[in-house]
Amino acid sequence: MPDPRFRPVSGFDLPRFAGVPTFMRLPHARPDDALYGDVQIGLVGIPWDGGTTNRPGARHGPRQLRDLSSMIRTVHPTSLIEPYEIANCADLGDIPPNPIDIEDTLERIKTFHVGLAEAGITPLSVGGDHLISLPVLRGISRGAPLGMIHFDAHTDLFDGYFGGARYTHGTPFRRAIEEGLLDPERVVQIGIRGTMYDGEDIAWGRDNGVTIIDIDTLMERGHAEVMESARAIVGEDPIYVSFDIDFIDPAFAPGTGTPEIGGPDTWTAQQVVRALRGLNIVGADLVEVSPPFDPTGNTAWVGASILFELLCVIAERVATR
Ligand code: MN
Ligand code: MN
Repeated sequence: MPDPRFRPVSGFDLPRFAGVPTFMRLPHARPDDALYGDVQIGLVGIPWDGGTTNRPGARHGPRQLRDLSSMIRTVHPTSLIEPYEIANCADLGDIPPNPIDIEDTLERIKTFHVGLAEAGITPLSVGGDHLISLPVLRGISRGAPLGMIHFDAHTDLFDGYFGGARYTHGTPFRRAIEEGLLDPERVVQIGIRGTMYDGEDIAWGRDNGVTIIDIDTLMERGHAEVMESARAIVGEDPIYVSFDIDFIDPAFAPGTGTPEIGGPDTWTAQQVVRALRGLNIVGADLVEVSPPFDPTGNTAWVGASILFELLCVIAERVATR
């Protein structure tokens, strides 16, 4: 039964443009709040872009995503999933980053997610740049490598930047595989495109068993067939889902640091997330929304809408546990 304390504020009690914004107008629950112990899915802001190698600004993502998420109603338009009727969801606030210290910030993000894992809360983490996925995985993998379905224009499998910097938003999944947080044989990357430094990331990934599905394969085979094969590769065991907003074409989502043209439209982005239904998702993130590069705010609207898609498939899974 749904717990009424976790209902979003109704748009009929308080119009959706009004009020203090939380993700999806959910209650705000910090770890020392009484509500926290009953949370099943926690939306967590990670306002940090210290892993960014090019155009910054993703530190401003969570605040604008909270604002735009207030536009989202409660029932999914096609699956009719109503996440708040089947799972206790809350906005767990922001993890305080250290904007001038990468390793300290990684430790803070990891520690917070260890707490979520111990409390039995499934995280839906909101970046922030893509490096945040590494400490999230350090927090939730708990000694058993996870599978992953990763939507992105980039592999984020690079070894190092600028003469050996190992922690950037282009390296999280190289580190995660090296650290045994991900099982590369159960990692599928979808949407890869754009100019490259040298292709070493793709070669390393394939040599280690990662399935890399480039944009031509996605567009030519179609989202349904590609997602069917991704589902077969990750199987029934626990997986993480990582969604970089630059997966979507910059015509729809220009507010990101490293846009790449020739990408999927927003409808296709919805289809690939809907195709995750029923998978054993133990955590997910949405990253790389950089509001300063989109003064219209539309990228955050797209991002908030994808967050709701993710929330629906996670809630359905959490409800069956
Ligand atoms: Mn990325
Ligand atoms: Mn990317």
